[in-house]
Amino acid sequence: MENDSILDCFQQRLLAWWKKNKRDFPWRRTKDAYAILIAEILLRKTTAGQVERVYEDFLRRYPNPQLLASADTTEICNLLSPLGMHNTRAQLLKKLGSVLESDFGGKVPSEKKDLIRLPGVGVYAANAVLSFSYSKDEPLLDTNVVRVIERVFGVKSKKRRPHTDEGLLDFVRTILPKGRSAKFNWAILDFGAVVCTARRPKCMACPMSSFCVYFRAHNPT
Ligand code: SF4
Repeated sequence: MENDSILDCFQQRLLAWWKKNKRDFPWRRTKDAYAILIAEILLRKTTAGQVERVYEDFLRRYPNPQLLASADTTEICNLLSPLGMHNTRAQLLKKLGSVLESDFGGKVPSEKKDLIRLPGVGVYAANAVLSFSYSKDEPLLDTNVVRVIERVFGVKSKKRRPHTDEGLLDFVRTILPKGRSAKFNWAILDFGAVVCTARRPKCMACPMSSFCVYFRAHNPT
């Protein structure tokens, strides 16, 4: 198969798989940039199941940067205690609320250069806000996405922390369907978590197996 048709096939099959298998989380039911940013910060080093237990309560108590900035750190800390690292997270979130309030008029900025200057916000969280809230064509690269890309396309990051690899991020940008980055990003995250898992990937039921480099290498004809 030609490279272009592999890319087309990957996009189409991924989105078709996701239509039937998408995971549902409260932070996927909103386009509000503040709510999405809070989710991304809480999800760091924490499972989605843990975050689901506190997320909606958090947004009810601190529905905007202004209320977060004026919140009592101990109260935030208590609310986040099921997640662990709650002291650090509480201080960081309060600081985030303050900077959004003082420097951005209480709004989450829509430019990457501004987002990555916010406390606790790196490229991943910035791109998540840009893609999910502002509908910009920005890719996401986490451990699951790295694994899918490396296996399907046979590319390999030379970085010790591949999810920070600019080259790999650029590669994902090239396969991002224009105007559909949110769906594509959710789809590849779910696909890596459910089908192309780290251990025992479900290759026999996988829609990518006909062109997946990893599958061909492990199942020579
Ligand atoms: Fe992952 Fe296997 Fe599917 Fe390739 S065929 S994408 S290795 S699950």
